[in-house]
Amino acid sequence: MTLKFLEKNLSIFSLMAISALILLLSNSLGPNQTSAITLEEQEGLPNLVLVSTSTNSQQDPSNSTSVNATQIPEKAKGPAIPSKGYLVEEIRDGLYWVTDGVYNTMFLVSDDGVIAVDAPPSLGEKYIKAIREVTDKPIKYVVYSHSHIDHIGAAGNIYPDNVTIVAQEETAKLLKIANDSNRPIPTVTFKDNYNLTVGNQILELDYKGVNHEPGNIYIYAPNQKTLMFVDVIFPGWVPFKDLAITTNVPGFVQAHDIVSTYNFDTLVGGHLTRLGTMEDVNIQKEFITDLINASKAANSKFNFMDYASKYGLTNPWLTFSEYSDAITDDCTNTMLGKWKDRLGGAEQFTESHCWTMTESQRVD
Ligand SMILES: [Zn+2]
Repeated sequence: MTLKFLEKNLSIFSLMAISALILLLSNSLGPNQTSAITLEEQEGLPNLVLVSTSTNSQQDPSNSTSVNATQIPEKAKGPAIPSKGYLVEEIRDGLYWVTDGVYNTMFLVSDDGVIAVDAPPSLGEKYIKAIREVTDKPIKYVVYSHSHIDHIGAAGNIYPDNVTIVAQEETAKLLKIANDSNRPIPTVTFKDNYNLTVGNQILELDYKGVNHEPGNIYIYAPNQKTLMFVDVIFPGWVPFKDLAITTNVPGFVQAHDIVSTYNFDTLVGGHLTRLGTMEDVNIQKEFITDLINASKAANSKFNFMDYASKYGLTNPWLTFSEYSDAITDDCTNTMLGKWKDRLGGAEQFTESHCWTMTESQRVD
C-alpha cells in the first residue's frame, strides 16, 4: 500500500533507492516484523524513514530462521554504519568515501577547497556533515556522475549557491529537460574529457559513450588510484533490477571492459555495502558473460512459432509473454545454479536481468 503511494509520487529512481533500502533493511527484520516506509519532509527534501513493527506478539523463536543479514554472501557485506546514519572514511591522500549502506559517493579535499561528487538524497545533509567531519575548507566544485535523482537529487539543497558544477554535456541536456530545482544545471560541461585540478588535487573525468544512461562518466582520481563509476559495477552484489535500468544494454556490457582499462585499487560504485576492487569488476564481468551465454542458449531453445501454434495470435501479447517467460525462466534457472550464493541479491534480480538481456538480444 505504501509502495503504491510512493509509485505515484516518486520517480523510478527514487523507487530504485526505496527498493534498495527495502532489500537492505528487510535483512534486519525478524520473521513477524513488517516494514513501512514513510516520507518525511526534511529541509525541503523528501526523506525516507523505515518503521519496523511487530505483527505477531506470539512470536515462535524456533521459527525465527527467516531472512537475516547473515544470509547474504560474505562478499556482499560491508562495514557497519554508525548510528548517526553514515560512515565517512579516508580512501587515500585526501580522498574520502561516504556511505549510508545503500548509497555511496566520494569527495576530494585539496588545499584550495573540496570537490564533492554527486549528492544522493538518501544522504542529504549527512553528506555535508561528513565533509565537515574532516575539513573546514569550502566546497568549491561539484561533479555529477550522471543525471539521476537518486544520485544527485540533493544538490540543489545542500551545496553553496556559488559552487561550480561539472558534468558531461549529455547530463546537462537531460537536466535541462528535467527542469528540476533539486538538480541544478551544470555550470561547466565537457564532451569527452575534463581534467579538474583544484589546489594540489586532480580528478580526471571521462565520457566513453552511453552505458547506464547517456552522460554517465568515469571519475578517476589518479593520485589515489581510485575510480568512481556509478550504477554499473555493484561490488558483492548483482546489479540493480533490469541491469540497473540501463538505457542501452550493449553499452552497459561494453562498460565492463572500459572499467578494466583504468589503473585503480579502489572502486566507488555508488551503491550498496562497500567499496570495490578490480576483483569485483572481474566477478561482475563473469556474471555478465554467463548472462549473455545463458540468454543466447535460452533464446535458441524456444521457437516463437510453437507458441503461435499453441496460443494463436488473437492476443499476440499472451503468446509473446508465454514465449518470453519460458526463455526468461530457462535463463534464470541456469544463472541461479551458479550465482545464487555467490552475489548478494541474485535471487531477487536475476530474473529481471535474464528478461533484459534476452530481450536485448532479440532487438538490439
Ligand atoms: Zn542512475
